[in-house]
Amino acid sequence: MAQLFFEYGAMSSGKSIEILKVAHNYESQGRQVLLMTPITDTRAGVGIVSSRIGLSREALAVKPEDDLFALIKGMKAADLAVVLVDEAQFLSPKQVDELAYVVDHLHIPVMTFGLKQDAFNHLFDGSKRLIELADKLEEMKTICSFCGKKATTQLRIVDGQPQRTGAQVFIGGDEAYIPTCRRHWYEPDLDKITAMFPVKK
Ligand SMILES: [Zn+2]
Repeated sequence: MAQLFFEYGAMSSGKSIEILKVAHNYESQGRQVLLMTPITDTRAGVGIVSSRIGLSREALAVKPEDDLFALIKGMKAADLAVVLVDEAQFLSPKQVDELAYVVDHLHIPVMTFGLKQDAFNHLFDGSKRLIELADKLEEMKTICSFCGKKATTQLRIVDGQPQRTGAQVFIGGDEAYIPTCRRHWYEPDLDKITAMFPVKK
């Protein structure tokens, strides 16, 4: 039985390395995978799945208006063993429904990987729909940068300072994120942040 999976975690929980591993496992058995990633910056036009440990590979970039069911149906679905989606939080809710339709009508498993919530502790729209529709949810764990407990969220750092308000998708590209537990999202160790992100003078 094909299923819709959502593997979620905070920033740095190893989602991209996991997706690359799953792709490799299928391909080493001679099976075809479709790797896709939603793009928030539509100017780029290309998709890349890259992990923090340096591995990366190209992925099909999907735009918010793309119909994923039509797209996958248009490929030779009979040869396709699995659909893998990175950065799944950026899927539109409608695209999540389309992926569920792929599972139920094309009988192809779809594994999605992404953040559950944004840097302000609110669900991403794509993640919310995945939590509503997925057959199987799995949490990928990482630890808080301050206390070593499980990280449930991430804190956005801009110019060496925590940001607790702002746009869900940061435009500017100079931000960083650190995984934190709930308590340290509210009360981070500012000295440690200064040490981690020295402000350039
Ligand atoms: Zn903590």
